[in-house]
Amino acid sequence: MFQIKPHISLELHCPNCNSLNISQLSIHCAGIQFLIDCRCQTCELDFFHTLPTGHALLFPLAFAKKSPQLFLPSKTGDWYYQYLLDAYYQSRFLACKIQKITYQQFDKVLIINCLDYLFGHSFLRLLNVEQHLKTTPEIGIVVIIPATMAWLVPQGVAEVWLVEVNFAQCRYWLKDLDSFFQTQIQQYEAVYLSYAFVQLDWTKVNIELFTRTPRFDLTKFAQIPPHITLIIREDRFWLRTQWEKLLFRISIRLGWQKYFKTLFCYQQNRRFHRLAQLLQRQNPDLKIKAVGLGKSLKISPLLEDQRATHLDTKTELDWCQMYSQSHLVVGVHGSNMLIPTALSAGFIELLSEERIINFAEDIALPYQDRKLYFFGRFLPETASPRLVAQHIAAILQGFRLFDLCLNDDYHRFVIDENLPEKYRE
Ligand SMILES: [Zn+2]
Repeated sequence: MFQIKPHISLELHCPNCNSLNISQLSIHCAGIQFLIDCRCQTCELDFFHTLPTGHALLFPLAFAKKSPQLFLPSKTGDWYYQYLLDAYYQSRFLACKIQKITYQQFDKVLIINCLDYLFGHSFLRLLNVEQHLKTTPEIGIVVIIPATMAWLVPQGVAEVWLVEVNFAQCRYWLKDLDSFFQTQIQQYEAVYLSYAFVQLDWTKVNIELFTRTPRFDLTKFAQIPPHITLIIREDRFWLRTQWEKLLFRISIRLGWQKYFKTLFCYQQNRRFHRLAQLLQRQNPDLKIKAVGLGKSLKISPLLEDQRATHLDTKTELDWCQMYSQSHLVVGVHGSNMLIPTALSAGFIELLSEERIINFAEDIALPYQDRKLYFFGRFLPETASPRLVAQHIAAILQGFRLFDLCLNDDYHRFVIDENLPEKYRE
């Protein structure tokens, strides 16, 4: 964390002449980014510079105020900055409503900005709350977050600013949020910003703080009836064949998704139906649920349909309960896998070629040992239902031996008078 009031505890270079003689004028909460308004006293460049929070820690960005001129590290994807720049240079500032909820009053506050255009990025930023609550309890935490994610904000924060925007709108310059930020920070004696790290150690995250649901109890894996949850999306699909993938790419490029959605849903549902058939043939007691946003087509009668046409807090919490009771969750790559993999015992993820560069970014399985390999399996999206079923069976049926082999009682290098109980079993 770093301070922005009463003083800014950051030293910035001019992106044009590298001078340190910079006047720092004001700080803006533009949406995803915090920006500082600067003037270089050496070359007289007026520019905005990002403050190091979220992805701006990895990709610091500066841009000139008067005419389009961009300064950024090489290999920075345009997903990160283009909307913000377009909004600024074309004066497309977005209006939005903000609802402030106060739980506790503090003179000193720490702001965690969780706005982002992807749910996964927002959620990862929010997880920073846990460590801040532990390390600086004397400073009140202010969370800025899309209103649809209010259900995930943990207890213990001082304030929440719920911003009524959808994820895509977060990419623009949110002028009402900036005005609100300017007014609000007047009342505090000191203001800090969280770095809002987007890469966290999942073994140190207490997911229950956020989901109100404890994760799957691994000690009960073999005792409770087997249970699988399929996570089904209607904007990203389990596409196996080359023609499907080509058609999907073309439909995205031309904005024709709505014309082909039924076809993709149909193909995907066929595969989940076949998977359910194979799994229930192996194990008639297996319960399989389906969750996900959208119910365009009927789903296999072998699945318990828990999908929803819109999301609310009750649905989200119900789904969390299902993940936490699931021996496995199965779905295609995407930030929709973060919470399920944080709560279930394991997962099967179907990964497309396009998402190989994002490998494991959407996975939150908190194991440190061989369990990570056993319970976390990535398959190409071309995988057949039969191959997916084989992996699921290998986990469900192989757990007992796997668990025994990991047990310390099994690893004895002394002369045993009596074989340990576990080994005898
Ligand atoms: Zn300069």
